[in-house]
Amino acid sequence: MGHLQSKRILVAGGAGFIGSHLCDALIQDGHEVICLDNYYTGSRENVRHLIDHPRFFLVEHDVEAPLEMAVDEIYNLACPASPKHYSRRPIKTLRTNVLGSLTLLELASRNQAKILLASTSEVYGDPEVHPQREGYLGNVNPIGRRACYDEGKRCAETLFFDYHREKGVNIRVVRIFNTYGPRMNHDDGRVISNLIVQALAGGEMTIYGKGKQTRSFCYVDDLIEGMMAMMNGPDLFPGPVNLGNPAETTILELAALIRALTGSASPFVFKSLPEDDPMRRRPDITLARERLNWRPKTGLEEGLRRTIDFFRSEREQEVYGTIS
Ligand code: NAD
Ligand code: UDP
Repeated sequence: MGHLQSKRILVAGGAGFIGSHLCDALIQDGHEVICLDNYYTGSRENVRHLIDHPRFFLVEHDVEAPLEMAVDEIYNLACPASPKHYSRRPIKTLRTNVLGSLTLLELASRNQAKILLASTSEVYGDPEVHPQREGYLGNVNPIGRRACYDEGKRCAETLFFDYHREKGVNIRVVRIFNTYGPRMNHDDGRVISNLIVQALAGGEMTIYGKGKQTRSFCYVDDLIEGMMAMMNGPDLFPGPVNLGNPAETTILELAALIRALTGSASPFVFKSLPEDDPMRRRPDITLARERLNWRPKTGLEEGLRRTIDFFRSEREQEVYGTIS
């Protein structure tokens, strides 16, 4: 057990990809975990292995609605994270970010609990500076198709800082860059899950645009360590802090690596680039290194191997359709 004191910790969005790994780590550290989710993009399947644990509680609840419970810490991860899902219900996405953050900030305020927001690199929009530091104010199109997510998270950050300044709530804000690993949703539409599922099925691997755009992919275990380091970090450091892996790769390089690691003979097909798709993205993690002594440890190849293993075993258990 990593902590001296066992706490009651609420994980909103805990049945999602990142949330479920966070629940695992908090249980592992000896805490009591309340996992709250409306199962919009997450599922009970992700936390099935925890359901019988005496310190784990699963609550079906929409974070928009008021909530009353006694808690010491709150992690706010509730929000669909992939463009495919958030653009399906943009108004709901905004409501989840804005009203959901309000619900949880009010709860934190009443409980004098610490609260962490899982914000995103998308607050930088299509950035004009590389890599992105926390002081960069971003280049977001407020009326574009990604705005419900980008502006939703920006507004959530604003609410967190206003609750901090006006009501003295002890806040933490992390800006997460592209993260991957086991329990990603196979039909999330995100590049790593798409390419792995397609490669394993032997179908076409879809590359949007020319594949020259870049992303920096962080393995989920590394991210969870960073989030917990931030929650347990100095009280005078509310953030925002970037969490991600600075190793930048083009989508074409990523696809080639996945094809090699899966041993697949899948062909690449090039499709049109989605609207407002950022050309480059790479975190500057100097601040996290200096203030939290955190850095990612898992290289892309190692992380992809573990993720491929997950999708392989999922494939063996169920048959799902192809992704276009
Ligand atoms: P996910 O979609 O797997 O998880 C989100 C969870 O929130 C799901 O379980 C979903 O059902 C739940 N949820 C959504 N709306 C809700 C609501 N109104 N009430 C209660 N629960 C609700 O996505 P993820 O990749 O695990 O992302 C978790 C968080 O991290 C999100 O806030 C996301 O914005 C942020 N983030 C993720 C990434 C990434 O690369 N995965 C990058 C940046 C930020
Ligand atoms: N992408 C791709 N093929 C896919 C899915 C995504 O080439 O099957 C591209 C997408 O256009 C983007 C990058 O991969 O440039 C990362 O996309 P993802 O949705 O995973 O993350 P985000 O765009 O939110 O960073």
